Amino acid sequence: PTTQPFPFYSLSPQGMAFSLRERQILGIQGLLPPKVETQDIQAMRFQNNLKRMSDPLEKYIYLMGIQERNERLFYRVLMEDIEELMPIVYTPTVGLACTQYGHIFRRPKGLFISILDKGHIRSILDNWPETNVAVIVVTDGERILGLGDLGVYGMGIPVGKLCLYTACAGIRPEKCLPVVIDVGTDNETLLKDPFYMGLYQKRDRSQAYDDLIDEFMEAVVDKYGQDTLIQFEDFGNHNAFRFLRKYREKYCTFNDDIQGTASVALAGLLAAQRAIGKPITEHRVLFLGAGEAALGIANLIVMAMMETGMTQAEAQQKIWMYDKYGLLVKGRAQETDTNQEAFVHDSPGNVQSFLDAVNTIKPTAIIGVAGAGRLFTHDVIKAMGALNERPIIFALSNPTNKAECTAEDAYTITNGRCLFASGSPFDPVTLSDGRVFTPGQGNNAYIFPGVALAVILSGVRHISDTVFLEAQLTDKELEEGRLYPPLSNIREVSVQMAVKVVEYVYAKGMAFRYPEPVDKNSFVRSTVWHTNYDSFLPDIYDWPGVTFNPK
Ligand code: NAP
Ligand code: MN
Repeated sequence: PTTQPFPFYSLSPQGMAFSLRERQILGIQGLLPPKVETQDIQAMRFQNNLKRMSDPLEKYIYLMGIQERNERLFYRVLMEDIEELMPIVYTPTVGLACTQYGHIFRRPKGLFISILDKGHIRSILDNWPETNVAVIVVTDGERILGLGDLGVYGMGIPVGKLCLYTACAGIRPEKCLPVVIDVGTDNETLLKDPFYMGLYQKRDRSQAYDDLIDEFMEAVVDKYGQDTLIQFEDFGNHNAFRFLRKYREKYCTFNDDIQGTASVALAGLLAAQRAIGKPITEHRVLFLGAGEAALGIANLIVMAMMETGMTQAEAQQKIWMYDKYGLLVKGRAQETDTNQEAFVHDSPGNVQSFLDAVNTIKPTAIIGVAGAGRLFTHDVIKAMGALNERPIIFALSNPTNKAECTAEDAYTITNGRCLFASGSPFDPVTLSDGRVFTPGQGNNAYIFPGVALAVILSGVRHISDTVFLEAQLTDKELEEGRLYPPLSNIREVSVQMAVKVVEYVYAKGMAFRYPEPVDKNSFVRSTVWHTNYDSFLPDIYDWPGVTFNPK
């Protein structure tokens, strides 16, 4: 850049917060206005600018720019107003940003690895400036939120997820690496988009794709160590299950859409069960969707039911799934896959629609994870309200326009009796009688930062499913009938979850960091990153009583 003098541009800037000494020593005196500013004032300016913007995408672009120029200021403002800003850096706005990625592009973020780079991934990793990476979020862009195949435009997702690692769990930003693997896209719109930024080719679904992911995994542990946490995010269904199975014993890895989502949905169900006063074993759950999220949640519910003494078969019998072709039942025309087998039951009768399924199965809970829009119709919600005193209705698909129903519909149609949660945020709903309901946000953002913090701190080598059973939410407000803690509390909730998981993995012999910290709580808290500026002053001191050539 020619408008900015080199040293100023190249330093991780804190802008006008550089002190007089720092400015002099760094050789940037005069390149900044005279005033030495506090971070408080900088944050206020940042917040005021944000307030003036009404368009969420404009806010996203502005926030991402600040993240590049002044990372600590960015995280400070994000953390101070997480309720307001999480919907910008994360769902729903990040979804919009991904669809527009090549159009709103300013500067690259994260690492791009394409299938043409096969054989060279290790040297690409060497180009990444940080050597101390502890966690990677990787996507191949095939199933970005409920938006489908966005190819390399999906980079917004790993970037956004990692923002939450830092904002929610205090993981140092330089330890986080967002990665997109580009093997092409089957999205015709993108293949015609002049601003698209990936390879203009159809998705490679051959052995070369698998080899590329293998090479990536090997290169990562070679460069950053065996205990590097690799989070798979928004891969297509088939690959997500395959890779999880293939890598889970070999690497420190988890799939957030399967496992993180499971944890957050179970937490919501357990909270709902407390509110209703009916044990989880007495619930019947009907899923809309039978993919990564549905199966992850279903399997974890089974584990939770089994903890109370139920058999696996009995627990599986309590869970039903409805996909694009209808209810998963034995002998139906469309095939089901092996991951779904446990939830394919004998046909309960003639079911032609999701509404029929509700009326036939009489679930206590419906969980929407189809990514296909408003399929919890008024009639479906009404039926749930007729069947249950307190129906559980979770519309978990993202972003907001893919949610199975709105909060307003759920609360109005059930006259405030339902226990509702959604994957993307909805505003509180006021009923005509004046009662106000605050919907819970059933999003894996409550889970992955805390789990990741625990995993990287305790040197876990493989992440077992029981970790996600252990990763439960604690918060005083949950006692008051909320399904999820308020987002404003997410940092404390994540840290407490990390403490719990650290205790668990040490107790179970899964932790490999020695010596084992005695006080896990203060151990976890002592690692949490803060957004105060570092001093840029070199360590200047005299040798007492020694003078060689005095100036
Ligand atoms: P996935 O593996 O592709 O599964 C989608 C499932 O929905 C498939 O079983 C699909 O059936 C089914 N489906 C598609 N259209 C349908 C329709 N019209 N009616 C009934 N079922 C239909 O995707 P996923 O990873 O499970 O994600 C699904 C959604 O969950 C996305 O919107 C995502 O954003 C959301 N999600 C939310 C969270 C959270 O934290 N809240 C976390 C992860 C995912 P076919 O296989 O037959 O197409
Ligand atoms: Mn996801």
